[in-house]
Amino acid sequence: MPGFEFFGDEERKELNDVLETGILMRYGFDGPRKGHWKAKELETAITETFGCAHAQLLSSGTAALTTAMTALGVGYGDEVIMPSFTFVASFEAVLSVGAVPVLVDVDETLTLNPAAVRKAITASTKCIMPVHMCGSMADLDALQEICKEHQLILLEDACQSIGGTYKGKALGTIGDAGTFSFDFVKTITCGEGGVVMTNNKDVYTKCDGYTDHGHDHLGADRGADLHPFIGYNYRISELHAAVGLAQIRKLPKFLEIQQRNHGVLKAALQTIPEISFRIVPDESGDSRTFLSWFLPTEELTRAAVAEMKAQGILAGNFYWFDNNWHYIRKWDHLKNAAALNKLNPLQEAALLKLQTQDFSASDAVMSRCVSTAISLTWTEEQLQEKATKMATAIKKALSNAAVGV
Ligand SMILES: *Cc1c(COP(=O)(O)O)cnc(C)c1O
Repeated sequence: MPGFEFFGDEERKELNDVLETGILMRYGFDGPRKGHWKAKELETAITETFGCAHAQLLSSGTAALTTAMTALGVGYGDEVIMPSFTFVASFEAVLSVGAVPVLVDVDETLTLNPAAVRKAITASTKCIMPVHMCGSMADLDALQEICKEHQLILLEDACQSIGGTYKGKALGTIGDAGTFSFDFVKTITCGEGGVVMTNNKDVYTKCDGYTDHGHDHLGADRGADLHPFIGYNYRISELHAAVGLAQIRKLPKFLEIQQRNHGVLKAALQTIPEISFRIVPDESGDSRTFLSWFLPTEELTRAAVAEMKAQGILAGNFYWFDNNWHYIRKWDHLKNAAALNKLNPLQEAALLKLQTQDFSASDAVMSRCVSTAISLTWTEEQLQEKATKMATAIKKALSNAAVGV
């Protein structure tokens, strides 16, 4: 799953280029940098690898979502429809631009249920933000259809699905804009970092300025830049970009390993008739960073997770229902509108309403869902052992339940 598992000489070489010149900043210092432009090079590699017109690197995936929304004109009072299962960064970004997160149910795709999205549309809806969780995608055809019908923006949070595709196109390049995170646990990492991808030149130009205090980057050596609008500092450093440059070259290898390891684990779990698997709208496009699966009831799922834990095979398994980073059930800070700075009244009212919103359809999915993170470094032996042990533990839990243990 995470690129850090393969940190090595390639990353060190790229980093050394930067360390030798000492130019850690991505802009300016044209002479002393001796031709090293790691951030620019990585942006070009991203456009070529994923097939989009423009890429803007930033300091994080959260900054990428914030910047993308700003560049797309999502702001005060605009409602952004997003799933109840995501990483907290998704709603943080919505709140940071003054917009209102509208959380809707997920289905067995583990992301937006298009019917729930339709029901949530109001006159204030501006944007739909599918989150391609755990390596695989939302039903993008259905969501695009809704966007077209209601003239809404489609922003893909593809932070967890680097290398995934939908009908031949890279996730993150299909909507009006899309984002990846390159934080330490993502499929490829810069240590910290993120990117906005878009095919819209105007959106890209706005992202470029916004991430660097509004500089238009047209003047010579920064000093002569104009500031057509207010920006912030969400820049990536050359050090982080250097690591990412080495990592993106390894992505094909990461994806190949994920596919193989995912296949072995899935085959083992397929021997258990009670298990069903996550619905993947385009199976061939699953990046396979996770294998996500369901048991018929919450009780059986809890028993299976407990049995796996007892057998010492917890590593790499996520029981999302109890997870306070990824699912609405435990986001008390969100439901209590517990912000340090004052939220705007529309945001505050919307958050407090989450306390009583019915998420039973999401609960019915998430309470039965386990995701197994696919490691890149399992040896063949470890992989086989993990597959066997997992299947055995789950079968034991199921048979215990059947006889009422
Ligand atoms: C990791 C992640 C982010 C945020 O990325 P950071 O680089 O950690 O800020 C956003 N959305 C999702 C779904 C993520 O998994």
